[in-house]
Amino acid sequence: MSRVYNFSAGPSMLPEAVLRKAAAEMLDYEGSGQSVMEMSHRSKVYQSIIDGCSALLREVMSIPENYEILFLQGGASSQFAMLPLNLATKSGSADFVITGQWAKKAYAECKKLAKAHEVASSADKTFTYIPKLDPSTFDPNADYFHICYNNTIYGTRYTELPQTGNVPLVADMSSCILSEPVDVSKFGVIYAGAQKNMGPAGLTVVIIRKDLIGEPREGTPTMMTYQIHAENGSMYNTPPTYAIYICKLVLEWIKNEIGGLEQMKAINEKKAAMLYDFLDSSNLFKGTVEKEFRSMMNVPFVTGNEELDAKFVKEATAAGFVNLKGHRTVGGMRASIYNAMPVEGVEKLVAFMKKFEADNS
Ligand SMILES: *Cc1c(COP(=O)(O)O)cnc(C)c1O
Repeated sequence: MSRVYNFSAGPSMLPEAVLRKAAAEMLDYEGSGQSVMEMSHRSKVYQSIIDGCSALLREVMSIPENYEILFLQGGASSQFAMLPLNLATKSGSADFVITGQWAKKAYAECKKLAKAHEVASSADKTFTYIPKLDPSTFDPNADYFHICYNNTIYGTRYTELPQTGNVPLVADMSSCILSEPVDVSKFGVIYAGAQKNMGPAGLTVVIIRKDLIGEPREGTPTMMTYQIHAENGSMYNTPPTYAIYICKLVLEWIKNEIGGLEQMKAINEKKAAMLYDFLDSSNLFKGTVEKEFRSMMNVPFVTGNEELDAKFVKEATAAGFVNLKGHRTVGGMRASIYNAMPVEGVEKLVAFMKKFEADNS
């Protein structure tokens, strides 16, 4: 068996220890005589899995007691609609910073259902930076203020949070959740599709301050209502049972193998620094993002020559470094180096890039 280094933006690598544990428990989970996939979500044994996952997430992220954790489906993309349906209930308007495609989609979806106000945008430079925000341009009556904390496609991330006062800050953390500690109390809502840093696709995690869970806008479907999912412990209907189980294993790995989010951050910083240092010293490759806003998770780069980019991606793939092609809207390359990418994966990629540079100059 040979496993590749997978630099996919998502779904992406899972820790090998997690995959091995899941494999070992595949046919008989803890003496239950069945796979987690086959269990009733209403069974006692499954209840302990979802409760365990929730408790571990609360512990690992230090989530305060006044926040609810919801395990939903529909991806981060469904949150783009659930947020206005559930939160845009007073002034009926929300503020948005447009820092890339996901931020734009969240804005567009809100606009369909409520009012959406663009505060700032970095579209003028193909989203290669995070715009400087002026709080006097924020709507003080907005029902929420939305940011995409880490921009998966463009490889930027916030270095400071917008000062939104009493307006709840809502963050799409799909591609950076669990990569470093965050002060959850600074946010009204944090949400993430699981398939980047938490587990398999199919699970969406929503961390919401309890006072924000209220009556939704009129006509909101039951399945789109936070209150319904909160009241039912994320079991109004069948939750994504197996994905939640894998998420629990990932959290156990972060807690027990890595040692928590401070350590996770140190490892992630080390990996990102290796790659960025090489890009800054290279005569062939260069990073596309303004240094200050570089993401720790998604690293876009180019050679400046499309043919050479294509040659690089092809040769890298053959050498076992897969999914390095950049997003179709950006071109070039992108290395997504989420939590599960081992340090040696980045070391070997950098060595491969050095050799490619020597061979092609
Ligand atoms: C991947 C991603 C999404 C889309 O997630 P889905 O689960 O596919 O809907 C949204 N936002 C960000 C920041 C992402 O990285």
